[in-house]
Amino acid sequence: MADDFDAEQKRYLEGFSHGIAAIRMTGGLAGGGTAPAHAAEPTGPDASHIKAQDRTVKNGGKLADQEKWKRAENPFDGHNRLIAEAETGKAPKPEDNFRWRYHGLFWVAPAQNSYMCRLRIPNGILHHWQFAGIADLADAHGGGYSHVTTRANLQVREISPEHGQPFLDGLIDLGLTARGAGADNIRNVTGSPTAGIDAQELLDTRPLAKSWHNHILNDRSLFGLPRKFNVAFDGGGVLPVLEETNDIGFQAVEVMEGAGIEPGIWMRLVLGGITGHRDIARDTGVVLRPKECNAVADAILRVFIENGDRTNRNKARMKYVLDAWGYDKYLAAVEEKLGRKLERVDPAHVKPRGGFDRYAHVGVHAQVQPYLNWIGVVLPVGKMTTDQMRELAKISRECGDGQIRLTVWQNFLFSGVPDDRVAEVESRVAALGLSTKASSIRAGLVACTGNRGCKFAAADTKGHALLIADHVEAAVPGLDVPVNVHLTGCHHSCAQHYIGDIGLIGAKVTVSEEGDTVEGYDIVVGGGFGEAAKIGTEIWKAVKAKECPGRIEALLNDYLEHRTGPEETFQAYTARRGPEALKGLADARLLEAAE
Ligand code: SF4
Repeated sequence: MADDFDAEQKRYLEGFSHGIAAIRMTGGLAGGGTAPAHAAEPTGPDASHIKAQDRTVKNGGKLADQEKWKRAENPFDGHNRLIAEAETGKAPKPEDNFRWRYHGLFWVAPAQNSYMCRLRIPNGILHHWQFAGIADLADAHGGGYSHVTTRANLQVREISPEHGQPFLDGLIDLGLTARGAGADNIRNVTGSPTAGIDAQELLDTRPLAKSWHNHILNDRSLFGLPRKFNVAFDGGGVLPVLEETNDIGFQAVEVMEGAGIEPGIWMRLVLGGITGHRDIARDTGVVLRPKECNAVADAILRVFIENGDRTNRNKARMKYVLDAWGYDKYLAAVEEKLGRKLERVDPAHVKPRGGFDRYAHVGVHAQVQPYLNWIGVVLPVGKMTTDQMRELAKISRECGDGQIRLTVWQNFLFSGVPDDRVAEVESRVAALGLSTKASSIRAGLVACTGNRGCKFAAADTKGHALLIADHVEAAVPGLDVPVNVHLTGCHHSCAQHYIGDIGLIGAKVTVSEEGDTVEGYDIVVGGGFGEAAKIGTEIWKAVKAKECPGRIEALLNDYLEHRTGPEETFQAYTARRGPEALKGLADARLLEAAE
């Protein structure tokens, strides 16, 4: 009888029998508990995940709810149900809110009773017509605005259930997708925003980011990881992409003579960045040829898929496998998957990376191509209206090379603007109420969604960020160096507060014996990125939001007064001053206020 079925039908039947076992395992059928001994060996693209879950249960682990949901119905298999249920206009159940994130739709109640859609934009680069098209979609199906995210991506909010699928269909018309933009998947692939136009860069990251993006999208077995996963490519240019905050960072480096491998441009592999868990990616010593990046990243992921924690969401990131095993064991497992050894190089034979320009994402900068420029436009904590977006797209088409390059600093660059069109771009941007110039504080202001649109937030991060910038610009006019301030609403740390010069993480502040609370923040200082990569140190806990601008003013005034000179960075000053002295600034300020 079995021979009556073709290969596809057999696979379906195997999947069906395994599905029954899965339902039993996840408690979906009476008497369930474990998969029966005779259950068929899982096959197909989900097999490695199912086997990892089975091993977890066999070893006495209890699968996290999200693992059970993935198993009971693979989110991609639920697509037709998404469409049918969306038409009813109802909010999704929690398990479907998780599943629909595989399709890029996040139900964000109670902050907003609607979906937010997060896109995928490899290397953060869009054509002008895509940018304008997203604006049209945000008008037709969303709230008439969008936000640039800290992964050089776009999010559109206020999409009602009935509009979810039409929005996704519209993305496809634009050659875009939101597939795998949320939940336990590899997130938007970032790359150097100035790729291909930066005189300092060693390598153009665009083909690598695009190729990895397509690699993911074409392999369903790379979805449904133990937890989310980030990959970034740094080309060595003047504008940071913060690859050290990613699970995998590929850094273009120049290997010199005498390293035992061919000198030239290689990609250095750094692993385990996750700043919300207070860790920055570490150099593995491995270098690879650019064309090897996909194969190596794929192998790293498959080791994670097999060994990541499926029971505790707080410990399910790759960092925890690295912590438990050490880097050598992890890399040995990767090499086993690849079937070959990876090249390693002594850091002494790697040329130091060129420096960063902390203002490179703002204002006018000469490109490597003669007479052409990129122009960074400042967005108030990443927000643009759809009217602004359409006009910006027009400026890009008429005055630049037609591309819009999003950055991890929640803004974007026009590229390919000839010298004689620069002034026109600046004035047209100003006419939109936006700017190509920013103060030392506004240029490095980063804020996550906050409680206007995210249920996890303890505070209105975007609103408070703008209040801080307004206050500091007025109160510390002498601030003459960039100081990054990052505001994040919860421990998920979407705005990476731990790597800001000053970082704020939302906290409820108790203000009465009855337990009444107001919005506030814990404050850290001294974080950094690139060569100065460092996790900040907490100096103040539970500061009311309305007191934060004053505290930051106190820190900045103290910096200007006590720095050894303009060459001493804010980060270096905080390290030299020490946390105790900085903590005391709050008291000094209170005393001043009392006098
Ligand atoms: Fe929401 Fe927390 Fe991320 Fe902010 S950091 S957007 S509050 S999940």
